[in-house]
Amino acid sequence: MITDTSSPLNTHPDSHVITTIDKSALPVAFFERDLCARTATCLGVCPENAISLDENYYPVLDETTCTACGKCREVCPGGQVNFEKLSQQSFGISDDFSFDGHCEEILVGHALDSSILEKATGGGIITALAIMLLESGEVDGCVVTRMRTDKPWMGEPFIATSREEILTSAGSRYTVIPLNKTLHTIRQQEGKYAIVGLPCHNHGLRNAMAQDEVLAARIKVIIGTFCGGTLEPVVVPELLRTKNIPLDSITNFEFRGGAWPGQMRAVFKDKPPQAVHYSNYKDGAYNYLIGIYLPRRCQVCYDGSNLFADIAVGDAWTRDESGKYKYNSQSRVFVRSDLGKRIIKKAVEREVLKLNDVTQDPSYKTHRMRTQRKGLNAPLRHARWQKKGIPVPQYDRPLPHASNWEKLTEILISMFLWTGQVPWLRYAITKTLTSKAMIPLIKLRLWRKKRKYLKRATSKG
Ligand SMILES: Cc1cc2nc3c(=O)[nH]c(=O)nc-3n(C[C@H](O)[C@H](O)[C@H](O)COP(=O)(O)OP(=O)(O)OC[C@H]3O[C@@H](n4cnc5c(N)ncnc54)[C@H](O)[C@@H]3O)c2cc1C
Ligand code: SF4
Ligand code: SF4
Repeated sequence: MITDTSSPLNTHPDSHVITTIDKSALPVAFFERDLCARTATCLGVCPENAISLDENYYPVLDETTCTACGKCREVCPGGQVNFEKLSQQSFGISDDFSFDGHCEEILVGHALDSSILEKATGGGIITALAIMLLESGEVDGCVVTRMRTDKPWMGEPFIATSREEILTSAGSRYTVIPLNKTLHTIRQQEGKYAIVGLPCHNHGLRNAMAQDEVLAARIKVIIGTFCGGTLEPVVVPELLRTKNIPLDSITNFEFRGGAWPGQMRAVFKDKPPQAVHYSNYKDGAYNYLIGIYLPRRCQVCYDGSNLFADIAVGDAWTRDESGKYKYNSQSRVFVRSDLGKRIIKKAVEREVLKLNDVTQDPSYKTHRMRTQRKGLNAPLRHARWQKKGIPVPQYDRPLPHASNWEKLTEILISMFLWTGQVPWLRYAITKTLTSKAMIPLIKLRLWRKKRKYLKRATSKG
């Protein structure tokens, strides 16, 4: 039985100390590890196969094969994101500094195939698009993700080449996944590819496509998810531990399994899935887990809506006047490029997707919590850390205006984030938050939310 769940959040073991290679040729993982977003873009482009990954998906360098060519450094999105360059490269226009970025169309809707909807996180938009692209011959393979078979508590990327394989990738995995290691295969294997990634994956991907014309020619479309932050790989082992579920008893872990909006649950071979928290994903687990398992790099990440994807997809959390979700099992879609527009049009014409145009509806533009988390708190934290001499990524975006209250709120949130660095404290918080003791608190929170919406509706009326 595997019971060790002591995997550290942020450590700097000696094995990562570089002795013979000039660090100016290497990506951030080798000199400021906390800035590494674990995209594995460096591994994906290394012509010498000198980079591998450790058990927490941080890059490890084989100094005997590395030639210090600097290619890995050039594509690394961990230490630097040049929004202007990426915007020009992706859409031929300047970065507008906005949180939502460039959108040709904003849509809300879902896949029409019920077998996709059953497995997907929201509207199954991404899975349906990937299947359509593959089956219509636009691509030969789609880079997507799944949980590993050898360690079902960790995610991995793979290149899906059939409808069945794509279906296994449906669903969000709120855990670090080194997606761009697949670039290594794409460079070697002729074909046309679609890639589904988080914002940081797609920053690295765009950098790699600018560097390598083979990749640029083979990658036909970039689809992205919105991202409020991912969680450290240790999250699943610790969640299982709170419920005394042995690691080796699970065959899969679903971050949003069951009825929408889903629950985090362990999947077994011979018995039904078991939820590891009370309430649903949205009103319970993710909102607090993201506070204690959020990697350092994510704490200062500005891109919440996948600014440089052709098509970016997120949850449609809009509520009606009574506080109930208006669009259960649906997704919000930002169509950013002409290519994205053509693909979406084809999906609607082929009755793959059902979508409503909400481009003119301002309530669709942003989800308030995500905007606050990444559009305001992350820049404030970035500025505060920089002032204190803590390493931060370099961005070419200005600091947004913030009131003193907003600055104080960011500091308080950062104090909560800090608890994640102390393993026993983190586990104690997780244990409490996933216990039955939380049920009355969740009910109270929902009641207050409902009251707020009713008050708002009454004052409007
Ligand atoms: C880490 C993470 C954070 C997110 N944060 C937000 C948020 O704050 N606000 C919001 O509105 N939406 C967020 N999303 C997006 C949301 O959870 C859904 O993924 C999105 O709405 C698409 O739904 P869908 O039903 O169309 O996708 P599906 O059809 O279910 O397909 C999901 C796709 O996402 C891919 N995927 C899953 N996990 C990962 C991963 N870790 N890395 C790369 N690719 C992955 C799968 O391979 C699959 O292709 C986040 C997603 C992730 C993975
Ligand atoms: S390319 Fe990605 S994995 Fe490699 S060092 Fe940079 S952020 Fe880390
Ligand atoms: S918050 Fe940023 S760095 Fe973290 S997973 Fe999301 S896109 Fe990547």
